[in-house]
Formats: sequence, structure tokens, C-alpha cells
Amino acid sequence: MKTDDLRAAYLDFFEAKGCVRRPSDVLVPKDDPTVLFTPAGMNQFKAEFLGLGKPDFKSAVTSQKCLRTGDIENVGVTARHHTFFEMLGNFSFGDYFKREAIHWAWEFLTSKKWLGMNPDELNVTVYEEDDEAAGIWANEIGLEQARIRRHGEHDNFWPAGAPTNGPDGVCGPCSEIFHHPGGFDPAKEGTEIWNLVFTQFERKGAPPDNLIPLPAKNIDTGMGLERTAAVLQGVKANFEIDTLRPLCDAAAEAVGVPYDYDAKTGRPVRRIADHARAVVMAVHEGVRPGNSMAEYVVKQLLRRASLEGYLLGRTEPFLYSLVQPVVDSLKAAYPELTQTVASTVDTVKAEEERFLSTVDRGIKRFDRAVEAAQQQGANAIDGDAAWELHGTYGVLVEMTEALAARHNLSVDRQRFEELRSEHEKTSGTGAFADSVMAAGPIDAVKKEHGETVFLGYDATEADATIL
Ligand code: ATP
Ligand code: MG
Ligand code: MG
Ligand code: MG
Repeated sequence: MKTDDLRAAYLDFFEAKGCVRRPSDVLVPKDDPTVLFTPAGMNQFKAEFLGLGKPDFKSAVTSQKCLRTGDIENVGVTARHHTFFEMLGNFSFGDYFKREAIHWAWEFLTSKKWLGMNPDELNVTVYEEDDEAAGIWANEIGLEQARIRRHGEHDNFWPAGAPTNGPDGVCGPCSEIFHHPGGFDPAKEGTEIWNLVFTQFERKGAPPDNLIPLPAKNIDTGMGLERTAAVLQGVKANFEIDTLRPLCDAAAEAVGVPYDYDAKTGRPVRRIADHARAVVMAVHEGVRPGNSMAEYVVKQLLRRASLEGYLLGRTEPFLYSLVQPVVDSLKAAYPELTQTVASTVDTVKAEEERFLSTVDRGIKRFDRAVEAAQQQGANAIDGDAAWELHGTYGVLVEMTEALAARHNLSVDRQRFEELRSEHEKTSGTGAFADSVMAAGPIDAVKKEHGETVFLGYDATEADATIL
């Protein structure tokens, strides 16, 4: 089944169950200060889950554009993580609950009329205290006990750690569905394809008594489009599916290497393909590479991709040539992308040129910093070098960290941050930064994605010395 057909089938299936088909929300939400990018399908329905307002529908189905910067180090490394991806979701606001959510998920996955997956290749997890969900899987779906695993709040409460240590907001126990190619293997975790969240609480503050029952019991599910397509297409990684493999081939061609999943060049090419998608989708929504908030993330994704190409020997801009292939791979779902190809090409190319104008010297400076660390027997690149790379050579600190990790080194982030705040004070950009850092979106994002690295903040636009 083609990826476009899978998206359409999901929407059709849940529409037939009574869900109202809603468009994807934007990738860069304008009115949600807690996130820079939409990380999941449920984000556009936060008010509905809280019982605020009067929605004109009680259940919905979407394919949502998502971007998770916290997964960036996994991109190209695992078979299943992207920064930009699509999440297929069905949602109930006090309408259907656990039983229907589980039955319908199983029906969609295994019925011959729909995806026709082999049930023997699937297993599930439930929250350790959720006997009800475990019972439905065992007694109604007929799964043997060995294929119903119980985990704690880290894995089976969404967001992770919600009862004791998670962020405030709507939450609940979840049940996840995993795929095992060739048959369930109890020794393996499998690939997580679908998370069914039984959103029935609002978390407020610390335990005990911090889980307040919501006015209604809700459902929030998220299924990875690319992961499920990989299962259906029998390929070993998301990057091999019909919409992503051509992009990897185009990326490889653009940098002048052959593409082979297992070759040494496989990972960097996949990272380029992934970051190109994320950049195109964000720039399409008007987020240009820059130094603040979401713009900094776009700048970083773009420069990281550019650097991968550079390290493969491509010293001229190339990323802009992937704009059209990205649009081609996504235009069935998002035809509006075709309207912004030319302006996106211009934006991407200009930023690549800017980066490439300093990268030579940047890489030399980086190599000297690595040498110095190794000579001193240090395990980190010093903060002064990282600051110089960041401010003068355009090698952003997160890029230095990623490059340093390849030499088993970290970066002295404490010293770097000292230098950054000194710089902000003298250049007068600190006040803005402090106010944002103190109580603004960053804290909220950190809270919401506790375990992930937040990549989204640097100096402000006014800071002319930061490239
Ligand atoms: P994982 O444990 O594999 O990182 P997750 O538990 O963080 O996934 P959820 O937050 O439960 O993922 O998101 C719902 C679904 O979205 C997942 O089951 C998966 O199919 C998909 N998904 C999550 N993160 C990514 C990603 N970075 N790239 C592609 N698909 C993803
Ligand atoms: Mg994850
Ligand atoms: Mg998971
Ligand atoms: Mg999950």
C-alpha cells in the first residue's frame, strides 16, 4: 500500500466510524505558547479535551504534520525517527472511549479490508494499573498474555511521567501497538506504530491528588504514517518507503554519492533528506532561518543538512535542489506546497550560501579545538572555542556538539552559556532573552518534552554578529 493510500484509508476508516475529518493543523502553531512546532495530532484539540468551548463535533480524525526536534539525534540512525513526520490520529471528546479505540485500532490494522497486517506480528503494551485495557486486549481481542506487556508511567502514560513527574495538562494511561517483522519475538521490543491514549485527567502540580478527572473521558491516538507504511511495504526502515526513498536518492545525487541504506554515506544522506523535508514544511509556513525561536530551529536543521553535504564533499549549495522533490512527495496531501516552491528555493539557497561562506574556516577551527581537547586529555571542547564557532563561523553550538560526539567529546556548555549571556548583555539582547527564558515558551517546552534536548533558542534577530 502506498503512503498516500494509507493516509486516505485511515481517514476513510475513522470517518465511517463517525469521526469528523479535520485538516492538519499548521506545523508552527501561532496561538500555543507551549510549543514551537506541533509535536502530535492532539495539540490542535487541547481545548476540546479540557471541555472548553463548544466544538461542533464529538470526535475527529486527522493526518497531522508534526515536527520533533528532540528526535534529531536519532534521525538517520534509527530506522524509524524523523524530525518532520505525519501522525494519523483519531480523537474522541467524551464520545467513544477505551473499548472502541482498541477494537477499531485492531480492526483497521488487521482486517483484510483495511491494512491486513498479520496479527501474529503485533503486540501491545498497557499501563501497569490499567486492568481494563489489558482485559479488552485479552478477552475481547483475544491476545495471549505474553503479548500484553505492562509498563510504568514512563512508557505507558502520555505524556511520559504524567502522574508523578510529567508536565501539567491533559494526560492519561496509554496502550501502544508494536510491530515485529516475521512474527512476535518476546526478546524484542518491536517497532512502535500506534499509541492509544485514554485522555481522562488533567494533571496539575505534584502528587498526590494532582490528577483531576476531566469533564469527559477522551481518546487521543497517534499512529506514525511513515512507520506504518514501512510495515505495509515490507521495507526495513521508514526511509525506504515510496515517499522517502526517492528523496534519499535525490539527496544522494545532489551531494554526488550513491545511496545505499547500509553504506557509510547512508546515515548522512538520510539526515539530509529528513532535514530537507522539515525545512521545506516550515519555510512553507513562513518560518525563515533566523536566530529566534522556531526560526533558529529551521536555521539549525538547514545548516546541519548543509554540513552533512559539505562533509561528503559537496561544497556548493545543494539543499535548494531538494525543495521540488520534497514538494512532490507531499503534494498529494498538501497541494498548497506547490505555491511556495520558488520562494522556498530562494530562502534555502540564500541560507546555504551564508553558511558555506564560513564553513571552511569553521571546520578548521573545530579540528583545532578537537586536537586541543585530545592533547589536554579533556573530554569536552572548551566553551570559548564553541562560542567562537557559533558566533563567528556559523557552526551553531548544537552542531559542534553533534560533531564533537563523533570524536567522543562533549562541549563545555556552561562556559559557552556564560559567554553567550555576556554577549547578550553587551549587545543589549539579554533582556529579551531573559524574559523569554524565565517564563515563556521555553520552560513550557522543556516541561512538555522533559527528556528531549531543546534546540530552539539562541540570540535574537537584533544580534548581528551571530551568523
Ligand atoms: P518512540 O518511542 O519510537 O520514540 P514515541 O513513543 O515518542 O515513539 P508517540 O509520542 O507515542 O511516539 O507518538 C505516536 C506515534 O507517532 C508513534 O507511535 C510513532 O508511530 C509516531 N512517531 C513518534 N515520533 C516519531 C518520529 N520522530 N518520527 C516518525 N514517527 C514518529
Ligand atoms: Mg519518541
Ligand atoms: Mg515510545
Ligand atoms: Mg509512544
